[in-house]
Parts: sequence; C-alpha cells; structure tokens
Amino acid sequence: MSETFSYTPAVLASLAGEAKACVERGDPDLLAVMCHDLLPWAGHEDVDRVLGTVLKLLLRHAGAMRVAEIEAEAFPVDRLRQGWNPQGASIAYLSWKYRQAFGPERDPDLAQAKMLVAAGDSILDIDEGTAVIVDAERGWIDVDPPPSERAAAEATASQRAAENRADLAGALDPAVTVDGVRIVVKANLGTAEEARAAVAAGAEGCGLLRTEFLFLDRDTPPGQDEQQRIYRDIAAVLGNRPLIVRTLDIGADKNVPYVALGREDNPALGLRGVRLSFARPDLLVTQLNAILAGVPPEQCRVMLPMVTEVDELRQVRRLLDAASQAAGRTDRIPLGVMIETPASAVLADSIAVDADFLSVGTNDLTQYVLAADRGNAAVSARADALHPAVLRLIRQAAEGAHRHDRWIGVCGGIASDPIAAAVLIGLGVTELSVAPAAVPAIKAAVRNLRTEDCRKLAERACAAASAHEVRSMAAEALE
Ligand code: PEP
Ligand code: MG
Repeated sequence: MSETFSYTPAVLASLAGEAKACVERGDPDLLAVMCHDLLPWAGHEDVDRVLGTVLKLLLRHAGAMRVAEIEAEAFPVDRLRQGWNPQGASIAYLSWKYRQAFGPERDPDLAQAKMLVAAGDSILDIDEGTAVIVDAERGWIDVDPPPSERAAAEATASQRAAENRADLAGALDPAVTVDGVRIVVKANLGTAEEARAAVAAGAEGCGLLRTEFLFLDRDTPPGQDEQQRIYRDIAAVLGNRPLIVRTLDIGADKNVPYVALGREDNPALGLRGVRLSFARPDLLVTQLNAILAGVPPEQCRVMLPMVTEVDELRQVRRLLDAASQAAGRTDRIPLGVMIETPASAVLADSIAVDADFLSVGTNDLTQYVLAADRGNAAVSARADALHPAVLRLIRQAAEGAHRHDRWIGVCGGIASDPIAAAVLIGLGVTELSVAPAAVPAIKAAVRNLRTEDCRKLAERACAAASAHEVRSMAAEALE
C-alpha cells in the first residue's frame, strides 16, 4: 500500500537518469510507462497530466519517497482541497487518496470536510492565490467572492464547526428516531487507520470494507497471508463490532491493470465485481480463505458487488461454505448482496430468499439507472441518488428484503448526506454505512426524525419529477 511502499534514492536516481535521457531522446512512450509504474492506478488518460509533475519530481528528488508522496505531488494538496478531479478519475479512489492526504492525524478539520468532485476543467483557469468559497454541501465554487460573501461563508463555516463539535459529543450514543426506531450507523472503510477514526466517531461497525484498495499500487495481488493480516487488524480495531467485507470489486472505475482480463469497450458494463471473481476464481477463493482466517466468526459478514441475480449469490455461497468447512468452521457466515444494478433491485425479493442482508450501493445504482457515468464530470450533476427513479428502485429492493425478513441498508455515498436520511429511512432502510467523518452528523440527523414523517416524505419523493424536487422537499422537511 502507498503508506509503506517507498522508492529508494538509488531507484529514484536511476529513474531520474532514464527519464532525462527519454526527454532528450524525445521518447514520450517510455516516459508514460515510467509514469504508470510510479503511479500504477493512473489510467492512460491521466498520463499526460501527471507526466510533467512526475518527471520534475524525479529530476529534483534526492531521498526515498513513498508512493503517497508522489501522488500528493502529482495531485497537489491545493487541488485536492478544491476536490479537483483530474479526468473524472474514480471518485472512490480520489476520496481514498483525499482521506490519506487529510487523515485525522494530519488535519482533523479537513478530515471532517466534505469533498467536491467533478468541478470541470475551468477550475484550472483560476489564478494561483485567488480566494474561492468551496461549498461542497451545495456543490458550488464561488471564485473571488466580494467581502460580504466571504464574511457570510466564514460565519457558515464556524457555525458548521460548532455543529460538528456538538454532533461529535453525542456520537457514541445510538441513533434512535424520536419514535424509538433504532437505525444502525456503520462506516465504509479501506484501512485499519480509517477503522480507528470510525470507531472514535461512533461507528457501530463496518458496513462496507472496500477490499480493492489492497490491490492498488502494486504489480501482483496480495496473497492470503497479507490479506488475512489486514482483515485481522481492521477487525481488531473494530472490537466486537460487525465487519462486512466486500469481495473484490475490481473493474471499470477501479482499474487494476494486472488483474484486468483484456480491453473492454464498456468496462462499467463488463467484467467487474462478482463477474470478475467468477472469471478469476483463484482471487476469490484466496480472498474468502483470508476473510475466514482473519475475521473472528462473530464479526464476520461477506458481501458481493455487482450482483444481477440470485444464482451468482448461490455460487459464492457454495465456495464460501466449502472454504469454511475446509477451515474447520461450523458457523454459517452471513452472506449479503449489494443492490447496485437495476436488475438486483427489481429482483430483490428473489435474491433476499438466499441473501442474509442487502445493502444498496447507490453510487453504481445511480449510474446504471440514470445512464450517467459516475466518472464523467460532464454528467455528474445528473447522477443524483435522490432521483425518483433511483428511489423507486430502493423502495422495491426494501420491499423485497422485508418480505423475507432481511435487513436492508445503504452504503453508497448518499447515506453520508444528512439531507437524504429521512427519505432513505422512509423507504424502509434500517442501516446507513457512511464515510467515517460523517457518522456523528448522520446519527444526529436520525435523532430528529419521526418514522411516519419519513414514510410520507419518501412517498412524495418517489412521486416527484426530479432529484431537484426531491432535494427541495427533503430540505424543507429538515427545517
Ligand atoms: C456503490 O456503488 O454505491 C458502492 C458503495 O460501491 P463503490 O462506490 O465502491 O462502487
Ligand atoms: Mg459500487
């Protein structure tokens, strides 16, 4: 992982020499390969943008450098502060990088901050040193605002900081609505460091462990021992709280070149998530063994990404049971499904017969329902999970889950937005898995809700004509 992986001065010096020679020979292809080696996650479309930075860095750097430092240089902190999204690169990946750059140890205030992505290329035209107001809640950037607007923004920021402190003070208490309904608030995690922050922020477990982050920044997949150690560390930090490990979700925006099985014209509709697991069962079985060995039985849950029908779940159930038996385990590991394809939402009543729980991945569900690529800045404003078409599918999935007495949660980005809590709860969701920093605010939001009001709001939201309309009614209901 980038935290531990370093390039020694000798390697950097030799790369710098090579890079210089490439430039002198006018050999951009070789430079692109070097750039990709240094930043393995960089897609072809990123190479031109990062190339200059990487080269500059190679030529001037004398000491050992961690991959994270190279990334920070290629995507400077100022840009990250503005939520700069170079080529609409993976939002999940960028938010992971963002958390690495501004983890609580490094900057507690920024760790609480929300992120604004897909601002578009025009942001690069803003002159260095220009004052900007970045409002990630409303999704706008005000360039060179007049003093009155600056003062108003500063007042709002200190009010938010005071609210954050108040939310944090009650963060360890459960989230119970005014009428006594308990909503479980967990955190989406990638590392033990994030698990620590999440527990301190009041998370009741991990609702989504994004294991693909273990596969980034390297040339070969992590073996069973390495994965097992990481899962064990995360489980230990969580104490006896549940840990839902999502099996590898590689493909599309989560590009891992050494696992890819060839070029795809439409990778988002290709071999990703559980489909890739079936194409590479070796990776899946290694991962299941590592989960079984690393996560104590009482905490252990497994969840599958990109499912479209119950047979996929059944196939993995057989592999999981076989691995479990081979490991001498007698307990039955709960196996859940992410609802992130329209098919899985529509067929939730059939999937829930076999699934132990469902969790809605609104990031992908939204992109597939609204035909709006989650990595494309040009359509990102359309990809709003509060769109009534998405909400109707969540309602259908919740009905399917309840028909078989299964719980259903939401682990997509919308769960971290307090404005959405009432609508999601009104649709029948009883678990929200959110960014660690969002746990206190979501718990606080839940405590102000009454489920009957949520249900009425959700009904109106499903009948609305646009996400914009839903947002207005949800904001009104919060007042
Ligand atoms: C989602 O799709 O909503 C989700 C939680 O998974 P990811 O963002 O990792 O694809
Ligand atoms: Mg997803």
